[in-house]
Amino acid sequence: MLFEDEVYDQIRKDIIENELPLLANEVIDDLQEKKYNIHEYSSNGNKMENPDQYFPGPETIPTKEEFPGHLNFQLLLPNQSTSKHWVYSQTLQKVFINMEQTLPLRFKWEPPLDGLYLRTSMVFSLDQYRNDPVQRCHNHMASSNRSNQDIDPRLIKHVVRCSDPLSMYEERNEHLSIVTPLRTPQAGSQYVQMYFQFLCKNSCTSGMNRRPTELVFTLEDGRYKIIGRRRLLVRVCSCPKRDKEKEEADAMNTLPSAKKRKLSHPMPQNKKVMLPSCDTHVYNVQLNIIGKENYLAVMKYAFDVMAGQAARTGQFEFFKPYMDEILHKMP
Ligand SMILES: [Zn+2]
Repeated sequence: MLFEDEVYDQIRKDIIENELPLLANEVIDDLQEKKYNIHEYSSNGNKMENPDQYFPGPETIPTKEEFPGHLNFQLLLPNQSTSKHWVYSQTLQKVFINMEQTLPLRFKWEPPLDGLYLRTSMVFSLDQYRNDPVQRCHNHMASSNRSNQDIDPRLIKHVVRCSDPLSMYEERNEHLSIVTPLRTPQAGSQYVQMYFQFLCKNSCTSGMNRRPTELVFTLEDGRYKIIGRRRLLVRVCSCPKRDKEKEEADAMNTLPSAKKRKLSHPMPQNKKVMLPSCDTHVYNVQLNIIGKENYLAVMKYAFDVMAGQAARTGQFEFFKPYMDEILHKMP
């Protein structure tokens, strides 16, 4: 309405012939730049300052902080397994398991609401490797590998698999996780049991390469909002029992030598508060327990909790006589 028909047609023609292609090129350039940025981010999880801008949704690398949240999210291990393929160290709070064997884990939240999801991620325990994605080694990822036959290709890179058929295998910036819809516990049960398998070993050179790992479980709602978080140290190896004993012995042996170093180079008084403190009051327990197995289990548990606390607090000398006393009472 502002122009004569003839002028309007000329302007329209100019725009179509000259301006539009220019505009289109700019748009393409812009799009390519965005694509490039995304690619840059994919190849290195650290590069972008604000990854959420490109990947809204759950965090890529789960943080370590455990919290039960308002639904009191709990991770429970079944009572000590009868399986010879995995073993739990109370002292180290760590699972040692053979490759391709099944680890049953129990999850509990209260009240048992429906419509929630469990996200399972395997991450490196040491901070210096925290940003590295945990993936299977070349050998175990090979298409000729028996574990890769007739499976969804999205599963191939994952060290961990969940047996629940509704599990979704996700990859974000090379970081892998499994999202499993949670059913409510069955009648009479307080928890939901899930089964996990591990398809690569910690010792595999082109994969985890001897770096310690842990599973991080997050309880999430339908919009990826994290409600609770739990962790479990896991080592996938050929001899779970042997490795457990070795790591437990290593943990014990480092304590007295650390103590020795401390004595030869006394630290300033205020440095001592760095060690976590604990209740050192000694309680005497007298119990009648039916069955030798049960008796041994109670004694072992008492030993393990004290050994764990000794390791965490560094007060090994204090705990040792009480732990020795338990050992003397065990045949
Ligand atoms: Zn491997």
